[in-house]
Amino acid sequence: MSVFIDENLSQDDTGSVACRHCTTVLGVAAHPLRDARVRVTAPQTAGPSVRAEASHFTDREVVLRQTFCPECLTLLQSEIVPADEPSSRSRSVKVVGA
Ligand SMILES: [Zn+2]
Repeated sequence: MSVFIDENLSQDDTGSVACRHCTTVLGVAAHPLRDARVRVTAPQTAGPSVRAEASHFTDREVVLRQTFCPECLTLLQSEIVPADEPSSRSRSVKVVGA
């Protein structure tokens, strides 16, 4: 049985997490995007709604970090974060009942 984590990820009985679009294994439950590809660019590349320079608000470098499936290039996650911080986004699957 596989469990849908979100519209792009699923987890199988072995604990492997895979892309739902192309079935490429991306990681395991504890690190679901371990083998995904990450692109880091300026926050303004997210679109026209991101206009202000981060330097107006902080001394830290801020980046747009996008995570993609390495096979089909589906965008799995986007976050605008301080460049020196790891991703704070997480996913968890909890089975309720039986
Ligand atoms: Zn994929």
